[in-house]
Amino acid sequence: MPFNLKSYNTFGLDVEAAYGYVIHDFAMLGMVFKKIKETGLPFIVLGEGSDVLFTENFNGIVLINRLLGYEFAEDANFHFVKLQAGENFDHAIRTCLSRGIYGLENLALIPGTAGAAPVQNIGAYGSSFSDFCRYVEVLDLENNKLSRIKAEDCEFGYRTSIFKKPENIGKYIITAVELRIPKKWKPNLNYASLEGLSGAGAADIYQRISDIRKSKLPDPHVIGNAGSFFKNPTVDGDFYKKLVSEYENVPGYFTEGEGMVKLAAGWLIEKAGCKGLRMGNAGTYDKQSLIVVNHGGATPVEVVNAARHVRSQVLDKFGIELVPEVRIFGRDGECAL
Ligand SMILES: Cc1cc2nc3c(=O)[nH]c(=O)nc-3n(C[C@H](O)[C@H](O)[C@H](O)COP(=O)(O)OP(=O)(O)OC[C@H]3O[C@@H](n4cnc5c(N)ncnc54)[C@H](O)[C@@H]3O)c2cc1C
Repeated sequence: MPFNLKSYNTFGLDVEAAYGYVIHDFAMLGMVFKKIKETGLPFIVLGEGSDVLFTENFNGIVLINRLLGYEFAEDANFHFVKLQAGENFDHAIRTCLSRGIYGLENLALIPGTAGAAPVQNIGAYGSSFSDFCRYVEVLDLENNKLSRIKAEDCEFGYRTSIFKKPENIGKYIITAVELRIPKKWKPNLNYASLEGLSGAGAADIYQRISDIRKSKLPDPHVIGNAGSFFKNPTVDGDFYKKLVSEYENVPGYFTEGEGMVKLAAGWLIEKAGCKGLRMGNAGTYDKQSLIVVNHGGATPVEVVNAARHVRSQVLDKFGIELVPEVRIFGRDGECAL
């Protein structure tokens, strides 16, 4: 029986999968895998659907990960927090704060589950999931065994990890993550909008970041979206100098990689005339152009058209092809925009 995904994708798109299962325990996971093998259909694991765009109905099986549970341990120097993959990551941050475990606060209010956090190595306000990851526990579908992938083997990078590599899609289901958080807390205030917080505690930093995020980002319960739609592109130093000679206040910062500069995709989109874009019921958010939105009642095609329009306007204006950060799924599985 078709499984409606409207409440399982934060774009709020009314799409269906051929089958869907909400996974609460390992026994159920095993049962669903039998079904996947029997039918030969493609499958997708979803957490809270806050980083996905379905362009049409999916002719496969969706597993909604709701494996829950926390385990806490410590040694002289570190707290170790193991989260089952279906736990909400922001809830985990607040739980840690309430237990006196500080360090995760800069990742406040990023939607989604612990199990999805390593996939794109979530990050914000100068912190990344990889700063705290000890290992990722996976069900390896090639041998049907649980194993641990150490953080140093996860190949974490800017919004990427081994879990995004084509050869690993459909190979692993992330079942848990373990965080390693130093007991000696040092606030991370290396981010412009956190200036003025010196002396503040972890809970105050969490609150300030939550307030900033709420003022800048659309609440998916009100305006459908999946956060930043595109990644910030990296260009070479000469290209950056040319931009700086043509525009004022070009946001960019030097990254690893000789002379390479990361640009703000939102700025490029705004300068390409797509701020507050409206195409039918889809468009971009007026306070942050990098967010493609469902203004209400949008079809998948409207969202896809808006995102493609943004990409082509930026390409025409700057010669830069924006790459989606959001994972895009069509009838048979992951696909290009
Ligand atoms: C308003 C808003 C703000 C956001 N802000 C940020 C931000 O500041 N920084 C940031 O990094 N991201 C941000 N995001 C994106 C999103 O929050 C993250 O990507 C988050 O990790 C997605 O979690 P999820 O559980 O919703 O994953 P889903 O959207 O359900 O899945 C994302 C991908 O991970 C895969 N996946 C999910 N769970 C598993 C699993 N257990 N095993 C294997 N694969 C799995 C899915 O197949 C899919 O490819 C934002 C999104 C929104 C809507």
